[in-house]
Amino acid sequence: MPTQTTTHTSLHTPIPWHILGAGSMGALWAARLSRAGFAVRLILRNQARLQAYEAAQGLTLVEGENCVLLPIAAQTPEADEPIARLLVACKAYDAETAVAQVAHRLTPDAEIILLQNGLGSQQAIATRLPHARCIFASSTEGAFREGDWRVVFAGHGHNWLGDPQPGAAPAWLEELQRSGISHEWSQNILSRLWRKLAINCAINPLTVLHNCRNGGLKAHRLEVDALCTELSTLLESCAQPEAAFNLNDEVHRIIDATEHNYASMHQDVAQGRRTEISYLTGYANHAAISLQLAVPHLQHLHQRLCAHLLHRGLPCN
Ligand code: NAD
Repeated sequence: MPTQTTTHTSLHTPIPWHILGAGSMGALWAARLSRAGFAVRLILRNQARLQAYEAAQGLTLVEGENCVLLPIAAQTPEADEPIARLLVACKAYDAETAVAQVAHRLTPDAEIILLQNGLGSQQAIATRLPHARCIFASSTEGAFREGDWRVVFAGHGHNWLGDPQPGAAPAWLEELQRSGISHEWSQNILSRLWRKLAINCAINPLTVLHNCRNGGLKAHRLEVDALCTELSTLLESCAQPEAAFNLNDEVHRIIDATEHNYASMHQDVAQGRRTEISYLTGYANHAAISLQLAVPHLQHLHQRLCAHLLHRGLPCN
C-alpha cells in the first residue's frame, strides 16, 4: 500500500489543513483540528513570526478553565509543500494579498475555505483563483487573542459553509464533525452572508458613532429603522429576498439580546485596530451604486464612520 501518493484525492493520503493567519479564528480552528488528530500547518507571515512561534512551542487554546498547548507545525508562505486545502483566517482586508502569497503552492484542485466577515474579499479571491473551489463561511463563534499564540474560545457558536457555485458538500466536513467544530452545509451561503452583513451594517457602525453598547441603540431607534428599510430594499434588489425577510425585527431582537455587549467594530475602534468597514458598509454602498439605488442613510452612515475613523487615526478602508 502506498504511504504517499501525488494525488490528494487518494483515500490513503491525509490532506493537511493549511491555515493562513494564526490569529483568533485561525488558532481556534487549528487547535480543534489538531487536537482531533488531523494534520495542520499554520502559515505565518514571515521567518520572524515563525521563530517567535517556535519559541512559544505551539499554540495555546484557552477554553473555560482548560488550557492546552498544541505544538502545531508551522511554516512561512515560502515553504514548498503543496496546498490542497487552505483555510483563510486573515481579516478581510488582508485575505487577498495573503492568498496571493501562497497561490503558487495550490494544487490544481485545491479547496479554499474563506472565514472572512462581510462580503467582497471572498469574491476577490474567487476571481483571482478561478480553478480553486472557494467555499465561503459564516461563523457565530467568538475567539480573541489573550497574547501572542494564545487564544481564548470565548463564544460557542456555529459555522455555515457553502459554495456560491452549485456543488456537493465536501467530504472533509466529517473532519470538522470529528473535531467538534459545529457546522452545516448551506445551500445559500450568499444569502446568509448578506443577512449577517446587513445586521452588522445596522448595528456596528452606530455603536461606534454613538460610543455605546448594543443596547444603547434603543435610544436611536429611528436611525436603526431607517437603515433597516434601506438595507432590506438593497437585499431585495440584489436578489437576496430571504436575507431581507423581517430584517428590522431581527435587528431589534439582537439589540435586545446583546444589550450589554460591545459590537466587534466598537471593540476594534476602542483598541485602535483597523475595522473591516470596506467589506460591510463599504460593500453595501458599492452594491447600491452599481444598482443605481438611492440609500442616503447608508451612504451618510459610511461617510460619518470614515470621518470618525480618520479622526482617530484609523484607516477608513
Ligand atoms: P485576527 O486579527 O485575530 O487574525 C488574523 C491573523 O491573520 C493575524 O494573526 C495576522 O497576523 C494574520 N495575517 C494577516 N496577513 C497575513 C499574511 N499575509 N500571512 C500570514 N498571516 C497573515 O483576526 P480574527 O479575529 O481571527 O478574524 C479573522 C476573520 O474572521 C475576520 O474577517 C473576522 O471578522 C472573522 N470573524 C472573527 C470572529 C472572532 O471572534 N474573532 C468571529 C467571527 C468572524
